[in-house]
Amino acid sequence: RADEAMYADKRRIKNGPGPTSDQKQLATDLWGAAERGELRVYYQPVVELPSGAITGVEALVRWQHPAHGMIPPGAFVPLAERIGAIDEIGAWVLAEACAAIAGWRAAGRDLHLAVNASARQLNGGFADRVARVLAETGLPGAALIIEITESVQVDNADVVSELHRLHDLGVRVALDDFGTGYSTLRYLTQLPIDILKIDQSFVSVLNGTAQSAVVADTVLRLGRMMNLTTIAEGVESAEQATELAGLGCLNAQGYHFARPMPGEELESLLFPAVSQ
Ligand code: C2E
Ligand code: CA
Ligand code: CA
Ligand code: CA
Repeated sequence: RADEAMYADKRRIKNGPGPTSDQKQLATDLWGAAERGELRVYYQPVVELPSGAITGVEALVRWQHPAHGMIPPGAFVPLAERIGAIDEIGAWVLAEACAAIAGWRAAGRDLHLAVNASARQLNGGFADRVARVLAETGLPGAALIIEITESVQVDNADVVSELHRLHDLGVRVALDDFGTGYSTLRYLTQLPIDILKIDQSFVSVLNGTAQSAVVADTVLRLGRMMNLTTIAEGVESAEQATELAGLGCLNAQGYHFARPMPGEELESLLFPAVSQ
């Protein structure tokens, strides 16, 4: 599988010619990668439980490096944040993914799209960019979710106002990796959050015992009490899916359902060829 092979590449890069020179070269290569057409958007289906029906997708960026092959975001997004290339990359991912989803919606699939945003991208101008892309692609704001992590600054007035402006566009905000940060509950009271994504570390521990399910259960209850949508991440087995459904979890994503995949592959999943 293409997406699986990529993670082997990442280890190769990490253990390659030496971390310092490697990172410097990667940083140089990263500038203009979007313009040169080297970035790809992979789409991971989000399904409803227990049916497994696809209700949306999360856009996950990959870098088709001319020498190193496909590189996963963990190996270049933090670098892009440091050198200031994340705005360019984020803008490209947003435009590319919104256009694709708008097309699939026009072809008859009522999908929503989740796009990740780094804390650094949430400066003044982010919501303006989103508004422009929605207008250009025709994607309704209500079909878009922006995923932020607990690395955003809750006290930053710019961040708070950008998120409220997203709400004005009908766009929803998801708190990614929920529960892994250090001031989790403050985000819920100070930011306009609509969706909690239950981190995969709380899903992978599920083993059928009440003890193993305490955190997932607590987040699901919190979501219900606060009227938030919850999505379980990193579901890798049928047992985990069944257990989550039993806890009242209605949405999930993970390798058990589908890996992130190129647009063409998702398209054949969404629109299976009709044989006569
Ligand atoms: P994330 O947003 O938490 O995305 C989920 C990650 O878990 C993805 O890794 C996905 O491929 C992986 N995953 C999905 N299902 C499973 C599963 O069942 N088991 C396991 N073990 N993993 C699963 P990926 O694609 O390598 O992305 C890593 C991170 O890079 C993302 O974490 C996100 O924080 C960041 N990222 C990806 N695309 C973008 C982007 O366009 N912009 C920004 N700013 N960050 C991005
Ligand atoms: Ca995410
Ligand atoms: Ca996550
Ligand atoms: Ca993560």
